Amino acid sequence: MEQTFIMIKPDGVQRGLIGDIISRFEKKGYYLKGMKFMNVDKSFAQQHYADLSAQPFFAKLVDYIISGPVVAMVWEGKDVVLTGRRIIGATRPWEAAPGTIRGDHAVEVSRNVIHGSDSVENGKKEIALWFPGGLAEWKSNLHPWIYEN
Ligand code: GDP
Ligand code: MG
Repeated sequence: MEQTFIMIKPDGVQRGLIGDIISRFEKKGYYLKGMKFMNVDKSFAQQHYADLSAQPFFAKLVDYIISGPVVAMVWEGKDVVLTGRRIIGATRPWEAAPGTIRGDHAVEVSRNVIHGSDSVENGKKEIALWFPGGLAEWKSNLHPWIYEN
């Protein structure tokens, strides 16, 4: 099944949103396949956001990501990349619908609580970068109650 990389950013950790965020993905019917609580260094953050290196906010973005610990996760499920982005909400929190994580919990684009892969391909790259040791193998016994097959 499809996988996505989700990261609770330092502001999400500091504000006590870890449980709320995990709960949303869990209750939806996705499977947690990897999770780490960690600090990242500058070069790792630059690597994760390499596609944005030409953006004027890049240095600020990197400083934000290294400002405290993050929760790095892999979630698996049907259409989890796109649906995960919908659960997260728009990049700019003032454009994020109420009911989304950013719509409910964020104000500033530079403090928008959470990251989610934007495509299956980028998800694979991010998972390889953050979880080089591989992922947990499991399937919930509730699987047939959530998925048709
Ligand atoms: P995402 O995929 O929705 O997280 O958005 P992007 O990949 O476009 O940008 C990555 C992250 O950079 C965002 O989540 C924001 O935290 C940050 N960011 C994006 N645009 C801006 C901006 O205009 N200013 C600042 N300071 N940060 C930004
Ligand atoms: Mg992005």
